Amino acid sequence: MVDRLVESESRKLLGRLSAVMAEGGAGQARLDRIVGLIASSMKTEVCSIYLFRDAETLELCATEGLKAESVHQTRMRLGEGLVGRTARTRQVVNTANAPGEPGFRYMPETGEERYSSFCGVPIQRLGEPLGVLVVQSKNAREFTTDEVYALEVVAMVLAEMTELGAFVDTGAALSARHQQAVMFKGTSGQEGAAEGHVWLHEPRVVVTNPIADDPAIELERLRHAVDKLRVTVDELLSGATSAHPDQVQVLETYRMFANSRSWMRRMEEDIESGLSAEAAVEKEQSLARSRMNRSGDHYMRERLSDLDDLSNRLLRILTGQGRDTGAELPDDPVLVARNIGPGELLEYGKKLRGIVLEEGSVGSHAAIVARAWAIPLVIHAKNITSEALNGDVILVDGDQGVAHLRPEETVKTAFRDKIAMQARALERYASIRDMKATALCGTTISLHMNAGLMADLPSLEGSGAEGVGLFRTELQFLIRNKMPKRAELSALYARVMDAADGKRVAFRTLDIGSDKVLSYMKPNDEPNPAMGWRAVRVGLDKPGVLRMQLQALIRASNGRPLSVMFPFIALPAEFYAAREEFEKAMERERILGHPLPETVEVGAMLETPSLAWAPDQFFREVDFLSVGGNDLKQFFFAADRENERVRRRYDTLDVSFLGLLDHILARATSAGTPISFCGEDAGRPMEALCLAALGFPMLSMRPASVGPVKHLIRHCNLKALRGVIHEARDSGVASVRPAVTKWLTSQGWLM
Ligand code: PEP
Ligand code: MG
Repeated sequence: MVDRLVESESRKLLGRLSAVMAEGGAGQARLDRIVGLIASSMKTEVCSIYLFRDAETLELCATEGLKAESVHQTRMRLGEGLVGRTARTRQVVNTANAPGEPGFRYMPETGEERYSSFCGVPIQRLGEPLGVLVVQSKNAREFTTDEVYALEVVAMVLAEMTELGAFVDTGAALSARHQQAVMFKGTSGQEGAAEGHVWLHEPRVVVTNPIADDPAIELERLRHAVDKLRVTVDELLSGATSAHPDQVQVLETYRMFANSRSWMRRMEEDIESGLSAEAAVEKEQSLARSRMNRSGDHYMRERLSDLDDLSNRLLRILTGQGRDTGAELPDDPVLVARNIGPGELLEYGKKLRGIVLEEGSVGSHAAIVARAWAIPLVIHAKNITSEALNGDVILVDGDQGVAHLRPEETVKTAFRDKIAMQARALERYASIRDMKATALCGTTISLHMNAGLMADLPSLEGSGAEGVGLFRTELQFLIRNKMPKRAELSALYARVMDAADGKRVAFRTLDIGSDKVLSYMKPNDEPNPAMGWRAVRVGLDKPGVLRMQLQALIRASNGRPLSVMFPFIALPAEFYAAREEFEKAMERERILGHPLPETVEVGAMLETPSLAWAPDQFFREVDFLSVGGNDLKQFFFAADRENERVRRRYDTLDVSFLGLLDHILARATSAGTPISFCGEDAGRPMEALCLAALGFPMLSMRPASVGPVKHLIRHCNLKALRGVIHEARDSGVASVRPAVTKWLTSQGWLM
């Protein structure tokens, strides 16, 4: 509990800070006055403010007590000395004997050797580090809890002021925030280059009034807002049915936090110390965020992230700033988000020019959607959501996995050249659109495209694909908020077949589960959803939707040929049971007098290693096989396709995986069963070449890859490449990638 005297002292100090802000003047002058004010209020000889100059460097920007000439001269790296340690750990460093602390770094230019006590408090806004506030004094003593608390309140206000641009002046550390050019180095999720304007999936709340004169008014505002929040949470809870147990569980946690006395008490104390209601919410949210970043405990992190979400809701109530800020989506939007699910991405549609995510994964279905639409995607762009503002210019370099926010002119020019070069390459592919993918050795590979929405179909014409090798029907389910009706589905599938104009479309039945979660279907609390109740497993256990889908497909074909395949078949029995459902649906349609498809092919996706060893009979009976390399690879290497850390350890061109593919090909060939490969690797030029050389006669890929893959195949001798692969494998290497790279380079295909 903070004592009343301290509260009123702290309020007085904030009142003076507020007066400094109102006086106007340049940023440096304000900072100078502020350090003087804090030092006199706290009765310390030294008060200094260090701000980040760049992500790794802190700069002394103002001081009372240290040598004036060290301002803007003294710098330290993140983690260096006690100031750097405060910034890195985002925790208070409070010591009576600073020189005796491990990591203490003596800065002779500041004259700080005389000061024994040190207290450093991070200046951070919503977990984003902005700098460090330091007080030092000669007499050796630790600062009291109340003093540290007062410093934290001041640091909170400084963070808001920094955010609002109150300290903008000359010098890099004092330059306006959110105006400098910043480069984010992440990982490539989808190649391509795009220029556009930032569209934040979750716009940030801006607090313009961190200091308040009248705590009574602020307390009233806070209580009113919390009451409103509780009502919202209760409403959400009564709306959530027991059909969604984990949603209910999250909301229960929200209710617990919303009614938490200690959360409320801390915010009330912050207000008593002079903060406004929204600043109090943010202060507690910032502290929770930094705890979240430090906590290794998964459960703890989840709970803290619930609190984070709840605080955002409270801030929106207090500031009136909704998720819908009234801002208009720019003409060339580049989506910037922490992460996004496939359903949300589908809602934005193809209008996005680029996507930059702080988290995300190459193997996720959101990434697959971005790839299908050829939208450049960068993942793991750390901190971009704190730095980017709606409307900022941004360049997305999907090839390098880099995003340039508010770029300099020179970067822009170079980037535009790159975009123009890519456009020229596309023209080159357009010229071979109607040609076959026949390699120099005479082998012809059949190239198809993957699709999932009506909007993808025009690419069939533009890409030069021979058909749709994989139509992911679940994407249609993901973009809706309720289960589609049979008539709607049938009309949609009919339009897909119309648009395909006689070209083959392999409709994959619903593949939900794992990261593809339908908001309107009962979710499952499974520890490993990728290996859980998904795809055909759901279809067989609860056959209602599968039957409806099969019926819709048969009706849509209306006498035309029909290709259907079942996802995630791990055992032949699953395929037989699913095929039986299809046959029953055909029989029902026949009895009802509807026209039946002219021809029917019923295939299976081979996505689990187990199916590669199914009895011969299965290989003979299935009409066709499509290798779902994304899942097959994840299960073969036991490496989650959505977890970048493990996913990247294993390569498609590792000899073990190629051995598995060889085995599958041999089995399909000896049974005389058509086989194709439809995972993401089919759309990566080097991998596609190797798959073709290995013997896959058909590849299905994202539309934008058809041109580049065809171009390469037409210039490559697949037989010779097969020889290179075999030779490498025989030599005992772990991966054939180096040998293939060398060979392609010698052929002039790689630089
Ligand atoms: C696959 O697993 O390779 C596949 C094509 O299916 P999805 O990526 O939709 O799981
Ligand atoms: Mg799959």
